[in-house]
Amino acid sequence: MTAATADLELLPRDLSPYRAGNTGVPYVHRFDSGRPGPHVLVNALTHGNEFCGMVAATHLLDSGVRPRIGTLTVSFANVEAYESFDASRPLESRQLVHNMNRIWSDAWLDGSEDSPELRRARALRPVVAAADHILDIHSTASDVQPFWVYPAFARNGAAALALGRPAVHLVMPQGLGSGTPLIQHGRHGHDEHHGVALVAECGGHFRRASGALATEVALDFLAHFGLIERARPAPPPQQRYELLQTWVIQTPEFRFTRPLQGFEVFAEGELIATDGSTEIRALCADCTVLMPTRRPVVGREGVYLARPLG
Ligand SMILES: [Zn+2]
Repeated sequence: MTAATADLELLPRDLSPYRAGNTGVPYVHRFDSGRPGPHVLVNALTHGNEFCGMVAATHLLDSGVRPRIGTLTVSFANVEAYESFDASRPLESRQLVHNMNRIWSDAWLDGSEDSPELRRARALRPVVAAADHILDIHSTASDVQPFWVYPAFARNGAAALALGRPAVHLVMPQGLGSGTPLIQHGRHGHDEHHGVALVAECGGHFRRASGALATEVALDFLAHFGLIERARPAPPPQQRYELLQTWVIQTPEFRFTRPLQGFEVFAEGELIATDGSTEIRALCADCTVLMPTRRPVVGREGVYLARPLG
């Protein structure tokens, strides 16, 4: 084991046994209880190197979880990127061409461009559109505390607060600001829809604990909507943040002023990063940095700036 792989507690496993599924779409498994109730989608691997979702999805399938009401769908999204994993470059298999969590608009999905992610998103489009409630499982490049990410629709906040694990929330009043994520596809991007759609960032990409948490969150999510019965502990105190700005990297000179992991707090006006000649400064008191990139790439997100909601 090399130094690079020594701290990779979670590694890919062979997903070929899950390829066939039962819906006609590869890597999509659906279980209909035959009774009325919501259709819940648990989706893994929107980003190919975020293995905790794979742990949760394979747990649901391997342990034979079946809904007592409604319908459960379990999907593995970007398996092609996942299969490109190279332990010496573990951040590379996030995506092959497109970020699969930014292309869920009609413009991208109906457009003429082609890539592995666009092909897969087009195949998954009816799967995502059919779900009432969506849990999209992710992880972070740094080993920071887990948190929810969701658009600021009341239904999402109510569900995430009721779930209470993770206990930190990043609420997006204006969306992501850099594309359309899976959880805002179609009706899920509209205020009047009833469906809950949440991202759970379950911790560092390669941490065993992230896989364990993702499994708990997936089971909690199914229990919340009545698909399974499950005792849940009372939620701890919750901390909510509002997304103020998504900084998309403009130049190869993008640099943070000091190394950042996420959840660092800056005073209003304090310099956080520079991007060529542009300064990125704290937008408010207690301006909090989330998901600072570990590998700056022009055109990709560099950092998210948020405000604590108290
Ligand atoms: Zn992700």
